[in-house]
Amino acid sequence: MKLFKKVSDLRYHLQGLTNAKQTIGFVPTMGALHQGHLSLVERAKAKNDYVVVSIFVNPTQFNEASDLSTYPRTPVQDINQLIRTQCDFLFYPTSDDIYPPGLDTSVDIDFGILDKVMEGEHRPGHFVGVAQVVKRLLDIVQPTRLYLGQKDFQQFTILKHMIKTLGMDIKTVRCPIVREADGLAMSSRNVRLTPAHRAAAPKIRQVLLEAREMAGTHSPAAIKAYAMQTLQTEWLRPEYIEIVDRLTLSPLEEEFDFVRSAVACAAVWAGDVRLIDNIILF
Ligand code: AMP
Repeated sequence: MKLFKKVSDLRYHLQGLTNAKQTIGFVPTMGALHQGHLSLVERAKAKNDYVVVSIFVNPTQFNEASDLSTYPRTPVQDINQLIRTQCDFLFYPTSDDIYPPGLDTSVDIDFGILDKVMEGEHRPGHFVGVAQVVKRLLDIVQPTRLYLGQKDFQQFTILKHMIKTLGMDIKTVRCPIVREADGLAMSSRNVRLTPAHRAAAPKIRQVLLEAREMAGTHSPAAIKAYAMQTLQTEWLRPEYIEIVDRLTLSPLEEEFDFVRSAVACAAVWAGDVRLIDNIILF
């Protein structure tokens, strides 16, 4: 695996591959890699001639300074894990490389309600930062395919919209959520859970599975109310449970439209760690 810190060095290498008609799969991450990230790398590896992984803890997408300062950073382990997955290129830029003074990296797109509901409502400015960094990374890497996890379902929808709106010739690939044996969705933030919160956290997945069972017989509003109530426990505090149209992210309340696909999304606090998860209901 080759490691690049400078944009110009990476560009020089990748341009040669693009000229030779090689396909490039790209996996953007914030590091502290786990099996969820690695599953994206493996998917990319299987479909493309070359795989680029980036590790950059993007300051502009954090709406809380404490979340940024406590975000886990494990560079040595990350590099070793990527070597084992046979990743070809690791891009490990500094903030100055991504946001050089004087370069306008802002993304001015109308996302409609896509960035207003759920995470957009509860994490002001988050998706502005996500769109900004991913657009910048895509301009640098110019991949054939972009690999994103369903874990961040709304992020996937927003980035797909961005790529379409900007007319970028990049295919987005949504990869399934990788979980711990007890069902907890893998996340870099999981290492910050206390033992008691870690023991309680799989309840999120259990409630989402129940939500899927209930979808045939209950209204979205009834399922949301049940899930909010069930997740409110000694160790967990649900921030929102939302049931939305899978493509438009329009919140559903009174009834399902069974012709369209629906997703249940949850954000739950376990102590001072915020966990998100989701399930496609049908
Ligand atoms: P992050 O480092 O959290 O920004 O995540 C980088 C990419 O990995 C995003 O596309 C995430 O959706 C994806 N990802 C994170 N956790 C998981 C997981 N448990 N399963 C699958 N993909 C994941």
